[in-house]
Amino acid sequence: MSTYLITGGAGFIGSHVCEALYREGHRIINVDQFSDLYDYRLKIMNILESIGSKASFDFTVKSKDLERLSERVNGSRYRLVIADIRNADSLSALFQEEKIDAVVHLAALPGVRASIDQPQLFEAVNVQGTLNILEAMRGFGVRKWVCASSSSVYGNNRKVPFAEEDAVDRPISVYAANKKSCELLGYTYRHLYGIDTLMLRFFTVYGERQRPDLAIRKFATRIDHGLELPFFGDGCTRRDYTYIGDIVNGIRQSIRYVEEHADVYEIVNLGGNRTVSLSELVELLENELGKPAILNRLPLQPGDVHSTWADLTKAQALLGYEPQTSIEEGIRKFIAWYRSDEHGRTVGRRTFI
Ligand code: NAD
Repeated sequence: MSTYLITGGAGFIGSHVCEALYREGHRIINVDQFSDLYDYRLKIMNILESIGSKASFDFTVKSKDLERLSERVNGSRYRLVIADIRNADSLSALFQEEKIDAVVHLAALPGVRASIDQPQLFEAVNVQGTLNILEAMRGFGVRKWVCASSSSVYGNNRKVPFAEEDAVDRPISVYAANKKSCELLGYTYRHLYGIDTLMLRFFTVYGERQRPDLAIRKFATRIDHGLELPFFGDGCTRRDYTYIGDIVNGIRQSIRYVEEHADVYEIVNLGGNRTVSLSELVELLENELGKPAILNRLPLQPGDVHSTWADLTKAQALLGYEPQTSIEEGIRKFIAWYRSDEHGRTVGRRTFI
């Protein structure tokens, strides 16, 4: 049994990573601040689902809800630490208390458009927060980590598919610049302190528990409720959508890789191996939901990239990564989850629009 510290484990990707490692029998320390980017109640549901808790949860106010959540989930193999990665002292105290084998750093403020509106906040969480994690690792001798980067670092690269070495340093959003900074810090800390690093460039991740601000979840909810959906551009922008189960496999393979190798610094794409246009995506959702979409056509937004497409040659060679889930199958699984309110909680997830 290893002890893994996962930052952002209440979030979409983090809750799935915690779930996979917990099921394998490892000890999980989940550091999350329950940031306000979206409703904290969704994150409580993420955590309860990730540990297989079926009992209902009656929401009241955030502070009390988080207290009751901690009481319910904390145990010998799961520790929820409600802390802000901007606070270096609380990270130091935690690293002093625990013997951590590896870190999976997923906590961040994601979102290209929001980062343009709040650049200082994004820089503080995404870059300073990452530096704080690295400093705590250095200080307490933790030498293995896997960190979330993003396909956004490729900017408006026209050469597709994107290979890792194609990321020229021209990020077109604050978020992309933040992620590029994290990649650089990772290199520096491997060089100076021997912290073995895998930086993973995720390509538009979707699936069960997806963030409510991301297209597939937002579109599905709005189509389902007969509401207009914001449709940016002419529908020809293309994305490499990656199903959450494939991302979790890629992260699992990456942890194994840093554990088994020394003197490692690698940047690796994790994508879905196929691109889908915005119009095709809406059609897939309409078919699965059996309802038509009402489009509110809007111009492309600053920071939006035209297309993303991962070259997976390196991920395949280094990690044995192979995405298994087609977009059709992934959308089917997502909609099945979206329709189910199997835990009978007082706030059904379908009400979050
Ligand atoms: P998410 O918002 O669901 O999860 C991030 C978690 O980090 C949240 O639970 C949030 O509360 C936590 N957090 C935010 N600020 C914090 C702070 N200051 N201290 C402690 N915790 C804090 O997002 P996600 O989609 O699961 O993304 C996870 C990671 O993957 C992020 O680093 C994101 O940038 C990256 N990423 C995601 C995608 C995607 O398509 N979802 C694509 C590329 C990269």
